[in-house]
Amino acid sequence: MNDTGHFVISLDFELFWGVRDKRTLASYGESIANVQKVIPKLLNFFDLYNAKATFATVGFLFSNSKEELLSYCPRQKPNYIDENLSPYADDFNLVKESSKDDPYHYALNLIKLIKTHPQHEISTHTFSHYYCLEKGQTKQDFEADIKAAIAIASKEEIVIESIVFPRNQFNDAYKNILLKYGIKSYRGNEEVWFQSYQNEEDTSLLKKIFRTANCYINLSGHHTYSLPDLATNELPFNIPSSRFLRPFQKRISFLKPLQVRRIKKSMTHAAKKKELFHLWWHPHNFGANMNENFEILEEILKHYKYLNTKYNFKAATMVEIERKLQALKS
Ligand SMILES: [Zn+2]
Repeated sequence: MNDTGHFVISLDFELFWGVRDKRTLASYGESIANVQKVIPKLLNFFDLYNAKATFATVGFLFSNSKEELLSYCPRQKPNYIDENLSPYADDFNLVKESSKDDPYHYALNLIKLIKTHPQHEISTHTFSHYYCLEKGQTKQDFEADIKAAIAIASKEEIVIESIVFPRNQFNDAYKNILLKYGIKSYRGNEEVWFQSYQNEEDTSLLKKIFRTANCYINLSGHHTYSLPDLATNELPFNIPSSRFLRPFQKRISFLKPLQVRRIKKSMTHAAKKKELFHLWWHPHNFGANMNENFEILEEILKHYKYLNTKYNFKAATMVEIERKLQALKS
């Protein structure tokens, strides 16, 4: 049953909705617009190396026009104390009427493209890039959001079965809502003090420094997971992250070999121990320095192919891992 290790990739597919409170279209719009190039290229690379990915997609991205977007918005909206966090607060004044004129807020064409590669999973990153631990929002708000995410995906005949929480804000009290709507797994965080996320106030400098350093040197271990261990938990299953694939930055380009080596070592560790390695990033992270980022990814995927041949290390989506966990449990 658990005779091999697994390689899971999850992508927080969000475009500008994921960064609208932190960045501007003037400063970051190009990286967002480039996701139109990044996704087709990712799909080609995944095909080439037989890799699989879970595209955790913001529900807003499924709409084709502002009219359609508004028609799916829940009546009950989160009232974050920090109003800046709410995409509803400005009445979508940055959003253009039609997806044709707005590469920052719509992605139905890309979702349809991903669907033509059925080895991948389309999952949810909530409807509105919802923050489950922020003050002011309630469980009822979250339920309304998830309901909308399920509804807008079903318009494309996509069944949502897993979730990645925006800003990795996991709220234990919301688990039963996930189950109610058929969501049976989520991506949890690495269990180390500097990877725990509370809310936006909890992004301390010290945590950031350790998180960054840990991408290059082994501070916290490999964060690989055995399926029998994960199966001992209650549903929805936690399929925790192992590592964030930090985007390439020119000013620290000398660290790139260290970053790749750290990831490859953890993958080898997982393959040998028949454990799971879970890598994640945002497609817009590849929107700048595209060549360098795809070089990093290609090294990782080549290593995956080598581990697949040598140790039968297998690519899997989150829903495929969830099915294996269900089987281990019964
Ligand atoms: Zn996000």
